[in-house]
Amino acid sequence: MAGILFIISAPSGSGKSTLVSELRKQVSGVDFSVSWTTRQPRGSEESGREYHFTTREEFLRMVDAGMFLEYAQVFGNHLYGTARQSLDEARAQGHDLLLDIDVQGAAQVRAKMPEAVSIFVLPPNPKVLRTRLRNRFRAEGAVNEAELYRRLSEASKEIENYRQYGYILVNDILDRAVAQLEAIVLAERFYRNGEAIAYRSRRVLEVAAACLQQNSQERLKPVLEAFGILGESGQQQLPFGDDPDDD
Ligand code: ADP
Ligand code: 5GP
Repeated sequence: MAGILFIISAPSGSGKSTLVSELRKQVSGVDFSVSWTTRQPRGSEESGREYHFTTREEFLRMVDAGMFLEYAQVFGNHLYGTARQSLDEARAQGHDLLLDIDVQGAAQVRAKMPEAVSIFVLPPNPKVLRTRLRNRFRAEGAVNEAELYRRLSEASKEIENYRQYGYILVNDILDRAVAQLEAIVLAERFYRNGEAIAYRSRRVLEVAAACLQQNSQERLKPVLEAFGILGESGQQQLPFGDDPDDD
């Protein structure tokens, strides 16, 4: 595609949707791919805006027709997928395209389009993640405890995949994380397309470089430890206990 394909993944509740919507206010020329899903709409979600909501039967028909760039079963038996059409439309406009997809989908896209820029967003620690996820569920109208627990217990497993991503953001202070995400987009445009960056904005190249995964180890260490993830291999323990102080 003429534009750049950005993939963003994060454990549910990390603040990915918030970051993406802030990015879109700051940077033009980035299209957002509206995924297809078999899950039910929540809160004020509208079909065609947050997702294209559909049935499992229809989704599987689309799979058979080869309409998806990637798709995966996420959180139980819900299917989520990116339509190839999103890519075609962004391509036709010469726009960048942003995919908000899970780690399985990201791996599928990377295999097909190794030039994609991938970004993994981490919450600062499990307790903050639980609070944010609960707040998000409240804002959507209902806190489903089973679903909350399911998503929290997936978080460490998802985070273990961080090494597959080119850039790492720790979404602690929102303004800083938004500035980092913006810097990554501008820096990639600069390096790949030779797009001009104002002299005073050269700082964005430094900000983006600091977010490269290979430059993030020190920043990441306390976050990985808080999620019970060991240096080189798997998971130590589930970090979500029954802490009465939570929330
Ligand atoms: P996700 O899309 O990753 O599931 P959301 O963007 O819906 O997460 O964010 C979950 C909750 O956390 C929302 O209530 C949002 O306003 C809040 N939030 C997001 N980022 C931050 C942040 N950096 N600091 C504090 N609250 C945040
Ligand atoms: P939610 O149900 O909270 O909106 O999303 C749940 C998860 O599904 C998130 O991690 C989100 O990134 C992921 N997701 C959303 N759309 C897609 C998609 O098209 N493909 C894949 N693989 N995952 C998706």
